[in-house]
Amino acid sequence: MIRFSLACEQDHEFEAWFRNNDDFDKQQKRKLVTCPQCGSTKVEKALMAPAVSTGRKKAQMALAMGEEQKRAMAQLKALAEKVRQNAEYVGDKFAEEARKIHFGEAEMRGIYGEATLDQAKSLAEDGVEFMPLPTFPDDHN
Ligand SMILES: [Zn+2]
Repeated sequence: MIRFSLACEQDHEFEAWFRNNDDFDKQQKRKLVTCPQCGSTKVEKALMAPAVSTGRKKAQMALAMGEEQKRAMAQLKALAEKVRQNAEYVGDKFAEEARKIHFGEAEMRGIYGEATLDQAKSLAEDGVEFMPLPTFPDDHN
């Protein structure tokens, strides 16, 4: 069985099942395929129409989300910058330093840097408080 999207001469779209393509052609020629809305037998396959309209819908959604995200990203970025302004950058020594601070082996201060997923997990297990900072594609810090 194949499901076809169909449209009548008045652009009423509907779907119908056929055994195969020939089955549709035969039924169409014998005027057995009728529009459920207006009863027209001038029915064509409308495979392209729904594909196009779906694509358009998606593009609009992506665009709308893009705008929203842009605003949210700007806010996140400003926040991340604020956090960094008062913190010391320790690069890939973040896990090491954070642990030292946690256990009182280093001066209590705000730090930021990079940590691997494993390091982050092990820090969390040790009860070290930290937060992942968002990174941005155009971050050069
Ligand atoms: Zn119709």
